[in-house]
Amino acid sequence: MDLVQNYLKVRESVPENVKLVAVSKFKPESLISQLFEQTGHTEFGENRALEMTTKQSMLPSALNWHFIGHLQTNKVKFIVPYVHLVHSVDSFKLLKEVNKEAERCNRFLPVLLQFHIASEESKFGLSIAEAHEMFCCEEFKALQSVSICGVMGMASFTDDNVLVRNEFIKLRNYFDELKRTYYKSNNAFKEISMGMSGDYRIAIDEGSTIVRIGSLIFGGR
Ligand SMILES: *Cc1c(COP(=O)(O)O)cnc(C)c1O
Repeated sequence: MDLVQNYLKVRESVPENVKLVAVSKFKPESLISQLFEQTGHTEFGENRALEMTTKQSMLPSALNWHFIGHLQTNKVKFIVPYVHLVHSVDSFKLLKEVNKEAERCNRFLPVLLQFHIASEESKFGLSIAEAHEMFCCEEFKALQSVSICGVMGMASFTDDNVLVRNEFIKLRNYFDELKRTYYKSNNAFKEISMGMSGDYRIAIDEGSTIVRIGSLIFGGR
């Protein structure tokens, strides 16, 4: 099967109201532009700031770039001028840096808070306790240039579908708790970015609004 067929098959299996981010990390510009030209797909995800910035500079400006990887504070300035959505804000320190650069660029930048939901140690992300602590901080309340639009998380890399489902439920519960506590009357806080090639059907079952799919579309890495 080729790229476009792969994409169409995935798109068909994702409900219309769920956004699909095609994760193009490590894949060449030629495949990204092929997908855009042949299907009109505009949402692409990358996990390295410099790789994304190079691709963005070479490809049509109609594309929307989603940053989904761990973002170092010294790389924030490279992506803030053009990034569409940062999915992976995993610390207060990073949020403050993103806010600072967004202000410099005159942007009101959409971001998601990444939570640690997997049982594995290595995954980045906030805990719900850290998030509450942050939300209560005066310094947080003063941030003017970031728009927190929801949450993101990665489930454990395992065949245990019960575990994966429970981790997605946990993220959904974090979303509901934050919505109820801080965003009751704010419609911008609405996204749950969860689900990858191996687990997106479970994620959609559990309320995902954005899935991030790489290998099912572009092939293995
Ligand atoms: C690589 C990556 C994906 C896509 O993974 P696939 O299994 O190839 O679909 C999704 N989210 C994040 C954060 C990633 O790093």
